[in-house]
Amino acid sequence: MNPPSREACEALDAADPLAPFRARFVIADEQLLYMDGNSLGRLPVATRARLHAFVDAWGDRLVTGWQEWLDAPARVGDRVAAGVLGAADGEVVVSDSTTVNLYKLCSAVLESLPREGRRAVVTDRDNFPTDRYVLEGLCARHGLELRMMECDPLAGPQAADLERAVGGAALVLLSQVAYRSGALADMAGLTALCRAHGTPVVWDLCHSVGALPIDLHADGVELAVGCTYKYLNGGPGAPAFLYVARALQDRLRSPIAGWFSQEDQFAMGPGYRPVPGIARFLAGTPAVLDLEAVDEGVALTAEAGLDRLRAKSLAQTELAIALHDAWLAPLGFTLGTPREPALRGSHVSLRHADAWPICRALIERADVVPDFRGPDSIRIGIAPLYTRFVDVWDALDRLRRLVDRGEHRLVDRTVSRVT
Ligand SMILES: *Cc1c(COP(=O)(O)O)cnc(C)c1O
Repeated sequence: MNPPSREACEALDAADPLAPFRARFVIADEQLLYMDGNSLGRLPVATRARLHAFVDAWGDRLVTGWQEWLDAPARVGDRVAAGVLGAADGEVVVSDSTTVNLYKLCSAVLESLPREGRRAVVTDRDNFPTDRYVLEGLCARHGLELRMMECDPLAGPQAADLERAVGGAALVLLSQVAYRSGALADMAGLTALCRAHGTPVVWDLCHSVGALPIDLHADGVELAVGCTYKYLNGGPGAPAFLYVARALQDRLRSPIAGWFSQEDQFAMGPGYRPVPGIARFLAGTPAVLDLEAVDEGVALTAEAGLDRLRAKSLAQTELAIALHDAWLAPLGFTLGTPREPALRGSHVSLRHADAWPICRALIERADVVPDFRGPDSIRIGIAPLYTRFVDVWDALDRLRRLVDRGEHRLVDRTVSRVT
């Protein structure tokens, strides 16, 4: 079957109800095909203005600004909850990094809930590195066994994998979308499975939030974290969110007893007494400037609507797969992402033995920015707020021409630190 033509992609862009959102982002270089919004989202135009205004407010208001800034983690948390998570007011805070929030939630589960002799913690071998490392550290400290599920690397964790691993587990940690393959896990089904075993599960939503509709309440999810600088366009190093279902909040204690979760914070009292509610997961002074950017990014995503974003994302990953099959498979590529639309997130992994030099050559010689994930994947990230159909077509067209001409053999093999 012939893949769609470039003209067909232009027609799709012309008919795309989300097309006007591209103009809401800073596009510094129109030639550059940015296919890495799943790693660092673009800068919204409104965010640039809002950050400038906030910097001025800092200059004007100085310390009196804290009257308003103090509750920014909870205020922006409510926006994240309603806008992109299907959670309620008072269930989300935005502060610290995803890694720190993973540590806080996983520790809280292990230290605050009755474990009843359970001595294992479960995740999968292909989970994101920081998730695995946080658990490794916690298991060492608590003398627990870290049980790594060996799942199909393309499909990600399935019910049968979890069923085999969950017995005697005190905690399960899973990602909704796998960072390498883009596989989308059955969050409702796997959460229900854990509940049937009496095991709390923490979900990492970094690669799904802002790219597809999430309804934490409908899926029965009680604990989750996720970052704001990927599909939510909050900016480099923007703080992450942490979600705890209302019913569980006061049964958990954060491992970081900081003054931002202290009852009557400014009484500066002698002992630590955590506040009730989600704010007990705050630690220290929040990054207020970054929170302004997160607020703007979330508002933009919610305005576009996650159902529409998901529909466009699926059409674009479908296009990337069709072009892979027609152009890239004959050049030695294989697809590293599920073909079934309902089973994938918003990026497509293209596997090739020379993936690393090909990825470098795309960046250095073809003005295409994807990213590389070892050992052999090039990730094509689809950010439906600003990615056009022609961008997908052009990126894969430049990729096939470059490989066909053998240009990847010309790149300098000195390893760059960020891939
Ligand atoms: C991007 C990402 C992270 C990042 O964690 P940081 O603490 O923000 O560096 C964590 N988990 C997953 C699944 C990710 O995709």
